Amino acid sequence: MNNENPWIRAKQQLTQAAKKLGLDKLLFSILSEQDRTIEVSLPIQMENGSIKVFRGYRVQHNNIQGPYKGGLRYHPKVDMDEVKALAFWMTMKNAIVGVPFGGAKGGIALDPKTLSENELEKLTRLFARKLLDVIGAKKDVPAPDVNTNPKIMGWIVDEFKVSCEAGSGFARQNSKFKITEGELRAVVTGKPIDKGGSEGRVVATGFGGVQVFLSMLKKLGKSPKGLTVAIMGFGNVGRYVAHFLQIEGFKIVGLCDSRGGIYVSDGIEDTEEINKCKEEKGFLSGCYCVGSVCDFKNKKKLNGRDIIKPEDILELPVDILVPAALENVITSRNADKIKAKIILELANGPTTLEADTILGKKGVIVIPDILANSGGVATSYFEWYQNLHNEHWTEEDVLKKLKEKMETATEEVYAVSKEYKTTLREAAYIQALKRIEKTWKTQNS
Ligand code: NAD
Repeated sequence: MNNENPWIRAKQQLTQAAKKLGLDKLLFSILSEQDRTIEVSLPIQMENGSIKVFRGYRVQHNNIQGPYKGGLRYHPKVDMDEVKALAFWMTMKNAIVGVPFGGAKGGIALDPKTLSENELEKLTRLFARKLLDVIGAKKDVPAPDVNTNPKIMGWIVDEFKVSCEAGSGFARQNSKFKITEGELRAVVTGKPIDKGGSEGRVVATGFGGVQVFLSMLKKLGKSPKGLTVAIMGFGNVGRYVAHFLQIEGFKIVGLCDSRGGIYVSDGIEDTEEINKCKEEKGFLSGCYCVGSVCDFKNKKKLNGRDIIKPEDILELPVDILVPAALENVITSRNADKIKAKIILELANGPTTLEADTILGKKGVIVIPDILANSGGVATSYFEWYQNLHNEHWTEEDVLKKLKEKMETATEEVYAVSKEYKTTLREAAYIQALKRIEKTWKTQNS
């Protein structure tokens, strides 16, 4: 359906904000399309001897602000329109948080749970080889996203290094230039620490989202005391949002992953325990009755409703809802049933345009994805910078710098929302476009 096509939505968001801002028409046309789209075929031999052909995508949306930058997603629903939208959102996000990157995104259409680790490695290395000519520290820098992680990023660094040393790919194209060790490492971010990863990168998106949320609550004059939270998704992002919100004193009452969820109206005691249990069991709803998390009082009170379906998380009676899984989960079908007064969008594109309108009419405040989840890429910038300058910062240092960046970005978006009398989402786009237009005009003057 068109209204759930993220690329159509992204273009509508761009059009609305460009109109409000009076964006230059040529720049609007540039940003309405991608600089480059890449689609590759990835045939590999599986462990059972069969041959499977996967499809890989990389979209480089725009590089006015700097090298293309954006994650790699492994998911059955990955397709060109999804990747185009995600790449566009990266361009916007990087401009909002003020890092010198453009926007890109990529992925492979597959269910990674159906592949062995060896098959996943073989596929990732093949994908990296097919992208060798277009990625690099000063060209396009991938990172983890849904179902990808530091280990997978590590395989890409290895493959890039081997190919450069063998004189292919980037090295072949740039034979006059010697690639430094730092540039080799900075080909991707979100790497394992021993391959040049940054301290704090793993927690960055969740931590950054919490900083945005706290700053926004202050701006809106709302007290965080006693607020209840439900979080959809318990992966890289969701688990750390839960952790840092709990540290700040919020009451986490609902959590879910793709296989199920839990609801504890008195508050989940320790989200870290849930985290450990999920790592052991592989799914979250099996983790309710373990150690301190098991609360029979609640269980009786809820009449067996403590284990919930993933989608039920969205309609729980909470103050704050945090979508931290996939796009298009808040739609015209369920927006009316949402009880939260604030939505903190940690996933990319969780809310359709129609749902946005319904939420607006209900007075729900939506803190938009392109601001709320920009902590991940801000820390990717720190990682890239450390690689290129041969530095290694402590986690304390990284999180301090990240907090400052997120607070500044939040204040800027809030100020634009007041100046242009818009929603926070529209303000975030206007702020991004303002920054890109300024750079573009300087480059073309
Ligand atoms: P992940 O793969 O680590 O985790 C995704 C989580 O969502 C898992 O717990 C999975 O079980 C759950 N999930 C999947 N489908 C679901 C469904 N239908 N209902 C409920 N839960 C479901 O991915 P991640 O890195 O945590 O990314 C989550 C979102 O955050 C994505 O939209 C991603 O683009 C966005 N994001 C991630 C980063 C990052 O640094 N990882 C940065 C910015 C934005």
